[in-house]
Amino acid sequence: MAVPKQIEEAFAELRSLGFEAQGEFKCCPGCAVLHFQCEGVENHVSYQEEDAVTLRNTSQVFLTWEGDSATIIDVLSKHGLRPVWDGDPEHRILVTWTRRH
Ligand SMILES: [Zn+2]
Repeated sequence: MAVPKQIEEAFAELRSLGFEAQGEFKCCPGCAVLHFQCEGVENHVSYQEEDAVTLRNTSQVFLTWEGDSATIIDVLSKHGLRPVWDGDPEHRILVTWTRRH
């Protein structure tokens, strides 16, 4: 199955707001965060190769992120996604959605 349109649209909007937003980026969250920190990128959102299978086969994915959490939550919600996050910056944001048929 394909990556849901809602994710692509939300990532596109985040990019327009100055985030680095990438899908299937690096093998794991540790590598992704390290990459962005090396590049000096403060605002980023991505999911990893190891999560891409879950994303395609179910209706949820964990997003690795740093930066302005309020904007991330806001943009995800606006595009019909349901972000679940406990407020801890060390924790990934779980995103769920309803599949369109
Ligand atoms: Zn890794």
